[in-house]
Amino acid sequence: MDDCLFCKIARGEIPARKVYEDNDVLAFHDINPARPVHLLVIPKRHITSLATVSESDAPVLGKMLVIADRLAREQGSPDGFRVIINTGRIGHQEVQHLHAHIVGGPDPVGPMLKRI
Ligand code: AMP
Ligand code: ZN
Repeated sequence: MDDCLFCKIARGEIPARKVYEDNDVLAFHDINPARPVHLLVIPKRHITSLATVSESDAPVLGKMLVIADRLAREQGSPDGFRVIINTGRIGHQEVQHLHAHIVGGPDPVGPMLKRI
């Protein structure tokens, strides 16, 4: 995935404010934060979205969620956070490399979605 933005970040070709990294996942600050804490957690290996995952991706998906609480606490969201995984056109996914947004901060992030 030569042209994928988050693959380039994972390879270190584009800078990011990293907060966590291991062999499988990388977490960094969103460049345009929507809340005081706004992190992105990605698999280092290219996965396009939740619409393209298979059983073999379960371990890395689990890892992305397992580290979320620790990262949120360390970055200033001490009492919970929200995980958002936008998927495809309906989910308004802009970057076509799977990523979990972790949003939070000192205050509640507000209602989940505007009701229809
Ligand atoms: P989504 O709509 O779920 O695909 O969200 C993509 C997110 O990636 C947005 O919140 C952007 O602000 C964020 N983003 C785009 N480019 C970068 C970058 N170079 N470094 C960090 N975050 C980025
Ligand atoms: Zn990618």
